[in-house]
Amino acid sequence: MGFDFEEFGDLLKSKEENKKAKDREAVLKTSSEHTKYCPKCGSPNLNFLIYFRPSLWKCLDCNYEGAFVLEGEELAAKIKEHYQKSLVDKQEED
Ligand SMILES: [Zn+2]
Repeated sequence: MGFDFEEFGDLLKSKEENKKAKDREAVLKTSSEHTKYCPKCGSPNLNFLIYFRPSLWKCLDCNYEGAFVLEGEELAAKIKEHYQKSLVDKQEED
């Protein structure tokens, strides 16, 4: 018999671990696609205030509170850029 059962078992094991890693990747990818962003400053640091008021989000960076949040990385990046520029403008005015 030229069949090595131990090797075969290892092969199955590594295949199983590969699958698990792929599943993890899929979960990460899905969650990042559903990341919510603050419409005021573009920050993803949002806290869902479901325990206090349903469907309300609070931004931990600019204290925005509201039911409306963004779901789009590119749009969020633009808003963030705009927001940071407006902060700089404010500082220059003072
Ligand atoms: Zn914000």
